[in-house]
Amino acid sequence: MRWPRFMPSATCKSLIGLGPDALAATLVGAGTPEKSARMRVRQLWNWIYVHGARDFAAMSNLAKEFRSDMAEHFTLARPEVVTEQISSDGTRKWLLRTGPGIEFETVYIPEADRGTLCVSSQVGCTLNCRFCHTGTQKLVRNLNPEEILGQLLVARDSLGDWPSTAPGRKVTNVVMMGMGEPLYNFDNVKAALAIVTDGDGLALSKRRVTLSTAGVVPMIEKAGTEIGSGLAISLHAVRDELRDVIVPINKKYPIKELLDSCRAYPGASNSRRITFEYVMLKGVNDSLADARELVRLLAGIPAKINLIPFNAWPDAPYECSDWSQIEKFAEIVNRAGYASPVRTPRGRDIMAACGQLKSESIKERASVRLAAEKLAAVQSAQLARMPH
Ligand code: SAH
Repeated sequence: MRWPRFMPSATCKSLIGLGPDALAATLVGAGTPEKSARMRVRQLWNWIYVHGARDFAAMSNLAKEFRSDMAEHFTLARPEVVTEQISSDGTRKWLLRTGPGIEFETVYIPEADRGTLCVSSQVGCTLNCRFCHTGTQKLVRNLNPEEILGQLLVARDSLGDWPSTAPGRKVTNVVMMGMGEPLYNFDNVKAALAIVTDGDGLALSKRRVTLSTAGVVPMIEKAGTEIGSGLAISLHAVRDELRDVIVPINKKYPIKELLDSCRAYPGASNSRRITFEYVMLKGVNDSLADARELVRLLAGIPAKINLIPFNAWPDAPYECSDWSQIEKFAEIVNRAGYASPVRTPRGRDIMAACGQLKSESIKERASVRLAAEKLAAVQSAQLARMPH
């Protein structure tokens, strides 16, 4: 019996998220001759990740027959955009969907000298940090490499940010700081970031990619060796008794172990500092004694400190520290040699700021709208207390 050159398949398989070897094997599996597989991979890679091609028909320098064979069996489809919101400060948030109940958010934060995309690694989260809205959503599942990369592709489609080789790119940085704990989805995050940082494709330097973790200590060294991105640690407290409560993973991996793993992080140096995130919770972790202890704890680690004003969400059990307290806290940190450490809240009006991301299944989405209205009231009270 003679097999057709391409095996018919019930559903088209996505090529997004496959590394070069897997892509070559997939093409060969679908009938591409072994000897031309590498060349085909190079050509497809360039179209997909340099030019942002969304369909094979656009790949004008490839043989028509090859393009139609590809289109018959494969897809370059992005996640479905459920909503796109634009904040009054220019921050954009997309709610994306790749299946029933599989919804996740991505946030673009434009600044004068860069544009940062905040990418999700899981739908929901298992960590239950007390101050985090995502933590109130149970883990639905890990995102796969296609879905992680899809966030960057959707953002760049929407921003008109192709090709990757153009000057003045809009997405210059990627932070794994969206929904989920990236080190609990290590393999998929690693596979996706390898493509994000591939010089022949999306071409973001590893220095412009940061992975943030609540402190999955056994995975930190591995992340440094195998992913090699910048590292951010959600520290948020300087004593175990408090961190046990607000970042419960601390019960498993306490502060000392966490900081030891940071000291050993491969690639950390004064030019590649580890970022320590510290959310400012009124009356909880914002005393000046806490600030001094923070500085003491981090001594000897090449560190940056990022103070994050707490972003409110409906029924959150905390309030943001008063601005004057944040300033005093920051001054102690500044005097210890860490420059301008306060992270300006971005996109609060569209629930896009740190810790506000959360997706719901379709039938629950109305409740999110209600929650957002409730939030507007909470926030206007909060914003009124902040300097403009
Ligand atoms: N799970 C990873 C990735 C999330 S990053 C991690 O914990 O690092 C998102 C950052 O925003 C984390 O530092 C998180 O602790 C912080 N965050 C969560 N909720 C917040 C809130 N309501 N206000 C300010 N920051 C918050």
